[in-house]
Amino acid sequence: INYQTARFEASYGTVAQLPEPATPEVAVTGRSNVGKSSLLNRVFSRKDLVKVSSTPGKTANINFFSVDGIRFVDLPGYGFAKVSKAEKRRWADLISGYFDQERSFNLVIALVDIRHEAQQLDLDMIGFLQQSELPFVVALTKADKIGRSKQNQQVATLTRQLGVEREQVVVTSSATGEGIDGLRRRIAAACL
Ligand code: GDP
Repeated sequence: INYQTARFEASYGTVAQLPEPATPEVAVTGRSNVGKSSLLNRVFSRKDLVKVSSTPGKTANINFFSVDGIRFVDLPGYGFAKVSKAEKRRWADLISGYFDQERSFNLVIALVDIRHEAQQLDLDMIGFLQQSELPFVVALTKADKIGRSKQNQQVATLTRQLGVEREQVVVTSSATGEGIDGLRRRIAAACL
């Protein structure tokens, strides 16, 4: 996959607007502020193709990126507390509306912050992916923020809490680049 070709395709505020799936799709999901924009930029080897928001939870859109014939779907970050109930509803509808469509779900990358216990919304998301039998990988983010032994401890804890296999988990850091190649290998395996 030639990540040099990464470009922004379009942004959608409702699922009804989404174009038909014509290419393999990789969807990326996680709590707001989990590090989704930073990770995507790292995967794309681009500094700021995906806007890293200083205000978490600001993007309530589904953003499409196209990379060498593969479409990356950046789903709105969930769980941001400081928005209205109506806005939360809209985000939830966007995410579930996307997954309800007939699309080519080659891979879902579910981001979870390595530093914390699994949050209810993360459990809900992973549970949904398992129930729907969608192919997914859990990317634990911000690994550089804790030491190696704490990382190993958190991998064990989160793997158990989320009910996933160790092979489904990739430890990542957008600060150091750890795990980015591993993630790219999963993407290639799922799409090529
Ligand atoms: P998003 O809301 O999920 O798109 O998260 P962002 O990518 O905007 O990141 C949220 C905050 O976490 C920003 O201040 C980032 O600089 C920071 N951040 C994201 N990834 C990492 C990481 O791997 N390591 C460190 N140290 N900080 C990160």
